[in-house]
Amino acid sequence: MAGHPAMFFEETGGGDVLCALCPQSCALKAGQTGLCLARANDAGRLVSLNYGRVSALALDPIEKKPLRRFFPGSMILSAGSFGCNFKCRFCQNWSISQQEPPLRELTAQQLARLARETVPDGNIGLAFTYNEPLVWFEFVYDCARLNREQGLRNVLVTNGYVNPGPMAELLPYIDAMNIDLKAFSPGFYRSVCSGRLEPVMETIAQCAAACHVEVTTLLIPGLNDSAQEVAALAKWLAGISPELPLHLTRYHPDYRMTAPPQPGREQIFELAGLARQSLRYVYCGNC
Ligand code: SF4
Repeated sequence: MAGHPAMFFEETGGGDVLCALCPQSCALKAGQTGLCLARANDAGRLVSLNYGRVSALALDPIEKKPLRRFFPGSMILSAGSFGCNFKCRFCQNWSISQQEPPLRELTAQQLARLARETVPDGNIGLAFTYNEPLVWFEFVYDCARLNREQGLRNVLVTNGYVNPGPMAELLPYIDAMNIDLKAFSPGFYRSVCSGRLEPVMETIAQCAAACHVEVTTLLIPGLNDSAQEVAALAKWLAGISPELPLHLTRYHPDYRMTAPPQPGREQIFELAGLARQSLRYVYCGNC
């Protein structure tokens, strides 16, 4: 099994390992792959299967991440790989998050050099995005350090489902993040994403104290879009900072969620108005 040595695991005896990167806490026997598809037990040691393997690379406007209050008008070289530690039934990037797509090999030095070479085109650094970057941890860490050394910025677009220790190791190299807060109910995280709400809330609080953070909630009719839930979500974010930007984006049916239909724009605008009672910066997406 090819792979790059992974960080954050324990040997639990008999060749088994416990991955300590995220709250899924996968216990893996030799040859087994974690829920994220990106880490595996290779003969008693944990390896990253997606290190240096890139599925998508594009110079994107920073607003597309979305980040609205971090170097507006700039571009950012955006890279993704494969894998995710959630199983969201509505995933809009399932072709790279839930399976291994065609990949190209790049070293951290090559990606950092590409970032530097695109500065004349408006690039401010590297964004790790498209699939879940925190399950690409070792490559993101190596690239972010090199990129920081050359004076450029690092951005993560993430679901925030990570343990606080690994996050703390990466945070010194991260300048901005967009973190999904997919709903404000534990039941949604459990039944729709196969995860838990509480660790995501902890990540948002941890990261907002260390770098620029914006939050995104994809609104799905009947599942996470009640006025009560959106108001509670906004109020909780305002407890961290009323200046924390919130993006309320409009869902469309995808992957394993073929219903409900896409909500109307008016409904998103109304919920944004409600969120603005707690937060200064609320943006509507896909509207
Ligand atoms: S990072 Fe992947 S292998 Fe590790 S605990 Fe999370 S889902 Fe499991």
